[in-house]
Amino acid sequence: MAATGSGLPGPTPLDGGKVEGGTVTFPNWRGEADRPSPPPPAPLPPGERVGFAFVGLGRLTLEELLPAFAECKTARPVALVSGSPEKAKVVAAQHGIKESSVYSYDDFDRIADNPEVQVVYVVLPNGLHRDFVIRAAKAGKHVMCEKPMANSSQEARDMIAACKQAGVRLMVAYRCQYEPYNREVIQRVRSGDMGAARIIEATNTQVMGPGDQWRFRKALAGGGALPDIGLYCLNTARAITGEEPVEVFARIFNPQADDRYREVEETIAFMLRFPSGTMANCSSSYGAHESKDLRVRLEKGRIDLENAFAYEGQQMRVAQRGGKAEVIDTVRMPQQNQFSLEIDHMAACVKENRVPRTPGEEGLQDHHLMRRSTGQPKPGRLSRLHR
Ligand code: NAD
Repeated sequence: MAATGSGLPGPTPLDGGKVEGGTVTFPNWRGEADRPSPPPPAPLPPGERVGFAFVGLGRLTLEELLPAFAECKTARPVALVSGSPEKAKVVAAQHGIKESSVYSYDDFDRIADNPEVQVVYVVLPNGLHRDFVIRAAKAGKHVMCEKPMANSSQEARDMIAACKQAGVRLMVAYRCQYEPYNREVIQRVRSGDMGAARIIEATNTQVMGPGDQWRFRKALAGGGALPDIGLYCLNTARAITGEEPVEVFARIFNPQADDRYREVEETIAFMLRFPSGTMANCSSSYGAHESKDLRVRLEKGRIDLENAFAYEGQQMRVAQRGGKAEVIDTVRMPQQNQFSLEIDHMAACVKENRVPRTPGEEGLQDHHLMRRSTGQPKPGRLSRLHR
């Protein structure tokens, strides 16, 4: 053990770690009975990471997406697009973004001349996604777009066509498809070890505040609870089965006296039937206390994922027969930031010229299904909820 300049003994090999291929690893210091700690993250140096520009500095961008870069390994924020120069200046300073890389919605197209920007991430109200995705593609940038992809299937098709024509990648930010517990459910069901999945139950509810919000305006939101949060139930049921539903129908409830629900739906229940026979019962509401859970009932057991569609707090339990007992196992995995994972996924796709796991076509398919489930013309104000 070498002495340091201070006269103290130097680190032992167990404490010092080892540098190999540009990354640092440590030998396991824990006993056999405990899980070893994961290796330290090995982020790319900032100059080698894929540069992201954010369009829209609202809650999701400031509260979740920009903070998630602290855990990203392949991506970094390099530009902002906002209608508020004052807000953009503060946020740029907080995240080390150059003032010259701040754009307004009007001069956004100048982003074509910024070589640091490789991906434009559109985080505006849904009704504005189409135009900004198309403008980003025309600027020659890869595009990531928040869910729901658009306000209608036609808008989604326009976005896919624009990205194809420009030769750029398009990813819809279905964060749950990158979240480790959701992935574990998908893997367990698809492995077949628990037999066929018969019933999926997915619920995504929350209580909305006062009416002065874009989410209550059809032109900006496209719809209410379904495209905003019920979409996760739909997308997850498809991801779990790996199938497309052959039958889908929905019922909607709107409180008559509540002006917030003149243009968009408050509560929706919908059912999907998949070719293998799996049925999904899904429900979503803007008027029920937050609850974001997933259950899969299979031939040989049950998987429960609490907070499946939340940003954090996932808890997974698997119930199966164990001899004469019903055994309920709790599955605990390391918590990972699902926003960091999805951003790094897009960055890896850009670097390796790969199609993202959730491309534009995934968003388009959900729009088709939302229209099929709710699109039958009905009298009164519930007609044409989803186009
Ligand atoms: P927000 O209202 O907090 O932010 C919207 C931003 O768009 C604001 O900066 C606002 O100034 C700007 N904007 C520009 N034109 C506007 C207009 N005409 N009306 C209203 N705002 C306008 O919204 P948010 O919650 O950040 O949602 C933005 C997008 O992100 C939406 O598509 C939403 O569905 C999606 N989202 C996704 C998740 C998720 O978990 N992946 C969570 C929340 C929101």
